[in-house]
Amino acid sequence: MADVDPVTQAVVEPMDPRPASIGAATVSRYLPRRGRSTVGAWCFLDYYGPDDVDGGPGMRVGPHPHTGLQTVTWLLQGDVVHRDSLGSVQSIRPGQLNLMTAGAGIAHAELSPDPHPRWLHGVQLWVALPDAQRHVPPAFEHHPDLPVADLGAATATVLVGELAGVRSAATTFSPLIGADVTVTGPGRAAVPLAADFEHALLVVDGTVVVDDRSFPTGACVYLGRARTGLVVAGDPAGRFLLLGGEPFTEPLMMWWNFVGRTADDIVEARADWESPSDGGTRFGDVAGHPAGRVPAPPLPLGRLKPR
Ligand code: MN
Repeated sequence: MADVDPVTQAVVEPMDPRPASIGAATVSRYLPRRGRSTVGAWCFLDYYGPDDVDGGPGMRVGPHPHTGLQTVTWLLQGDVVHRDSLGSVQSIRPGQLNLMTAGAGIAHAELSPDPHPRWLHGVQLWVALPDAQRHVPPAFEHHPDLPVADLGAATATVLVGELAGVRSAATTFSPLIGADVTVTGPGRAAVPLAADFEHALLVVDGTVVVDDRSFPTGACVYLGRARTGLVVAGDPAGRFLLLGGEPFTEPLMMWWNFVGRTADDIVEARADWESPSDGGTRFGDVAGHPAGRVPAPPLPLGRLKPR
């Protein structure tokens, strides 16, 4: 449960993951979760690895559709090739950002190349698009060089948004921050935060000390709102992903790979993927991908529930 600082009202709320399957791999899913489906517009957070993929196929996610969101792909170790129905073919390595805006609809696939590095380790994130932009045409961006903010005892690679005056060129549709922060010491580092944002962090290496509490690799913590900064330390070193944004107040309907607003949005997107009445133009085909197209699961027998 949440610990609330009686003076600052700042929250430190550990968010335990649940296991989820992506193809043959098992991942830790932190978002969405019961009681907290978003942090800012971040609406999906999977963390995986480090997995030893030596001698195996590695990541093998066949063509599947998305609507109403952006996917943010961030690797800590390994190498993945992205293909989508716009014709994009893009290899991604640690330190680089793949950002796909699904908007009205896109299909993509992700595959480890052959050969590939031994270890696969990373996060898969989604950002919900605001209602006014959720039907925009699909787009794909690759950012091989991201800006880095020097925070003294820490450095922060800015994936999206702005931190300490350093801004990423990645396209966003709502006020948002995503940064990969390495705390090396000596001493503590102050990470400036926007007070009108809510934030969370996920420790991806070592141990990170926040508000005098230690969090090991794999710990995810909701930090609440109204913080103007975060004092962090490594024990002795640590690395975390900082996620935040203005609280996303629009109703969301999330099911499988679709983000919409109503059950009808979901039913229509599923039908367009399963039996494309429009000739397949909504999602298109992912050319040159060896793995099979991923079928949508059956719709739940009960009503689809909004978050
Ligand atoms: Mn996807």
